[in-house]
Amino acid sequence: MKLYYTILFFIFGTVFGSFFNVVGYRLPNNLSLVKPGSFCPNCKHRLKWYELIPILSFVIQGGKCRKCKQKIALFYPLMETLCGLLFAVSFLTFGFSKELVNALLASSFLVIVIVSDTKYLIIPDEVTLFMSVALIIFRFVTQPLNEAFSYLLSGVFLFFVMYGIMLLGNKMFKKESLGGADIKLMFFVGVSVGTILGLFSIFLSSIIALPLSLVLYMKSKDNVIPYGPFILLALVIIILFKISPDVILGI
Ligand SMILES: [Zn+2]
Repeated sequence: MKLYYTILFFIFGTVFGSFFNVVGYRLPNNLSLVKPGSFCPNCKHRLKWYELIPILSFVIQGGKCRKCKQKIALFYPLMETLCGLLFAVSFLTFGFSKELVNALLASSFLVIVIVSDTKYLIIPDEVTLFMSVALIIFRFVTQPLNEAFSYLLSGVFLFFVMYGIMLLGNKMFKKESLGGADIKLMFFVGVSVGTILGLFSIFLSSIIALPLSLVLYMKSKDNVIPYGPFILLALVIIILFKISPDVILGI
């Protein structure tokens, strides 16, 4: 039964991943999410339902548009696969429990931000707002008031921590170090895992981002590295590996 649900969560994940591709692509371009339906960016051919099956359509069509034979970026089915895997692992880790919702929200946010921030260097405010509100409602509906409230305060606290880091960074590097979107993102992280793990996510994300930044910096000093995906990647790692605040404090 568990295997059955895991596969189901994987399939759900790929469907959501396909939608998150649309969100990550359209919101930064100020396009509507629903109208028009998906189309080929090259020939504008409107995609039929059988051209919209996550991963499978890409494989069956050999990675090309059915009409104009233009290559479809591998990036899209990769994001669908990633989202499917994250959903499946979330279910394997938490089963049908409250924390599953937290894991699914963080995973979804990660996929959207990978699409929008790596492609356009933008994290749409609408997405951060939607995810944060959804998470706050989830906390207040499922948890005692004082617990939910302390998560909310963690969000506010981490928001200001990140704001402080930005001010410091701007002074040190004499240029914009972090974007406003990264600061708002930190609010979500705080509501998701609390203060201690939130602070740890800043540390973890810089460790993950460091090697990549060095490579990009050596290629060109003007390369801009989006930080948002790394914060959310660190968050998802913390959630899925069930890292507890005690472990962090112990270290
Ligand atoms: Zn086409």
